[in-house]
Formats: sequence, structure tokens, C-alpha cells
Amino acid sequence: MKSILTVVGARPQFVKASVVSRAFREAGGIREVLVHTGQHFDSNMSDIFFDELALPDPAYNLGIGGGHHGAMTGQMLAAIEQVLLAERPDAVLVYGDTNSTLAGALAAVKLHIRVAHVEAGLRSFNLRMPEEVNRVMTDRISSWLFTPTAAAYDNLFREGVNANQITATGDVMYDVARLAAQRAESNAALFSSIGVSSGGYLLVTVHRAENTDDAARLRVIVAALSVLAQTSPVVWPMHPRTRSALHKTGLFDLLTSSKVRVIDPVGYLDMVKLETGASVIVTDSGGVQKEAYFFKVPCVTLRDETEWVELVETRWNRLTPPTDVDRIVETVLASHGAQGRDIELYGNGDAARKIVAKLATDLG
Ligand code: UDP
Repeated sequence: MKSILTVVGARPQFVKASVVSRAFREAGGIREVLVHTGQHFDSNMSDIFFDELALPDPAYNLGIGGGHHGAMTGQMLAAIEQVLLAERPDAVLVYGDTNSTLAGALAAVKLHIRVAHVEAGLRSFNLRMPEEVNRVMTDRISSWLFTPTAAAYDNLFREGVNANQITATGDVMYDVARLAAQRAESNAALFSSIGVSSGGYLLVTVHRAENTDDAARLRVIVAALSVLAQTSPVVWPMHPRTRSALHKTGLFDLLTSSKVRVIDPVGYLDMVKLETGASVIVTDSGGVQKEAYFFKVPCVTLRDETEWVELVETRWNRLTPPTDVDRIVETVLASHGAQGRDIELYGNGDAARKIVAKLATDLG
């Protein structure tokens, strides 16, 4: 039997891998070996996703979390190489744009094992973002490039990637969101524990290094949310990296003295409930920008650019760099009730099935 070794390590990868892993099991014929690098390790950043989304326990957990990018990626590279030498899979599957993605791809290609990249072709065209470096490098050494959007396909084509290596599948996150929506459970208990009601709050997530590692940007974000919280509840499930940056810069106390409700990161199903009940979503997350669109909630993205360009073009998303408090406040207020163009952007919800079918055919 053919085997695929999947490398995951960060929260969005557990979400994406859940549907593809399920598609492998349903299709049969390929054995999947799951490797968790350990990049995200808290139970509410890792275990909860395995439980809720029925992702099988990893065969290997490398326990490599924390440290600078170089050290983290290097340690992963060495550890994944050992696993590959032991397992000798027919291909390695990686997701998205984290250090785990790049380490998995690089370890594989150096052992002449072919790489499949899910979420290939996305570009922010800002190489100062660690994610952009990881994406560009991973695409360059992948044999199968599975693109979520038309823009991603065009980017690869323009970069000279051979068209027969690219498969336009749609976005696996849309597959996951559709399944979660079908499981929709009551949100009453969650909302009452936070003290909000449906349609009556802003939902915030912030975790990109360009924001958390820049005290001036963090200060603008905190100031803007504090102003917005005076008129509407603001719910912020806070990423551990952001919590630690806010403590380091002394901004956390400012935030808690305002009416912003900081909570711990939540599991995927609660996140979907929070997203569907929000009046506006304010984020710098890639995944959350798209989920806002899936659930038809207006989104304000606190970044200079986004790789999900179609959401800005169709007016589901407004890009607002966190450099100006008033501009963020005005943009969020103007977004209430705004709807973008009615258009299908991320496929039919069968991206995972297409990925598995393509790999099954090619691995024969
Ligand atoms: N997410 C979650 N709980 C949270 C915040 C985010 O389950 O408290 C989910 C979110 O719904 C999306 C994924 O995590 O599916 C996005 O991950 P993240 O924002 O960490 O990474 P990015 O998408 O920016 O790479």
C-alpha cells in the first residue's frame, strides 16, 4: 500500500488536515502517517482540534515548539528527516505557510521524496512576512501544488510552474466550514458565558508577527478596540503569542481596563459560533478572513496586504493597516451590515476529495 506522510504543527493546519485526512480514510488505498512537529502545543491550540475535528492521533510528536524561526525550522528539519528515513513514504503532504510546512517540504525533497502542498500559490508579495518566505520556498520544491483560488493558480503560472503540477481544488477550509455549519449546535451557553448576544459584538483575532512584534502597531490596535468597546462588546480570543507581546509592552493592562473581553483561544466549533454571531470580524488571520466570508460577516483585516485578494475585490473584506486608530474605528463602524458581492470564491466544498483523488491517481 502507498503511504503519505503528513506534517502538521500549527492550529490552522489541524483544521485543514482534518478534512483531507478524513478523505484519505474514506477513499482507502493510501496509508497516512501523521507527524505533529509540536509548533503549537497548548491544549487549546492543539489537542482540542484533534478531538473536535476527529483528526487521528499523530504517529509522531516531535515536541519542537518555541524559539526563533531559524532554530525552530532547523530542529524540525533534522527531526522530520529521521522520521522520513524510518517511514520511507511515497510522498509528503504539507499545508499552508508555517515553519512546519517548510521544514517538512525541505526534509522530503532532500531525500528525493515528492512533496504535495495544499494552499499553494498564495502570495502577499511581502517577503518580510515569515509566512511568505515559507510559501514561496515550499511551492518551489513541491511536485503537486493544490491551489485554493484562481489568484493562487495565476501566481504559480506567472512564476513559471508547469501547469501539469498545479491542481485547482478550491479551499479545504471551505470544506471544513461547511461541515461545521452542518453540525451547528446551540450557541446560547457560549454567548451567555461571555456575556454577548448574537449579532451584537465584534470578534477580534490578532497574531501575525508584523503586528505582535511591533509595539506601535499593537498600541494602535489596543487603542482602536478600546474605543470600539465603548459602544459594542468586543470579544478577543487571544493567541498566546499576542498575550505575551501585550504583557511585554505593558499594553495588556490598558486592554483589560477597557471593555474588551479577552478570552483564551477557543476550539474550532466555538470559533465558528463566535464568527457566525459577530456583527463584524476584525482580524489579521488568513483563515478567519475567509471564514468571515463563508458566514457572510463583514471583515476588517489589520494588515498592509492580504494573499486572499478576492475578498477585498468583492468587498467582503476591508484592508486597514494598524497604523491609524481613527481609520480602524471608522472602517469597523462603516462595515456594520455591509455585504460583498454574491460570488463563489473557494470551490464547491470538495477540495479534500479532489486532493486525495489526484494523489491516488498519481501514486498509482
Ligand atoms: N481559530 C480557532 N480558535 C481561535 C482562533 C482561531 O479555532 O481562538 C481557528 C479559525 O477559526 C481558523 C484557524 O483557527 O480556522 C485560523 O488559524 P490562525 O488564525 O491561527 O492562522 P492563519 O489562518 O492566520 O494561518
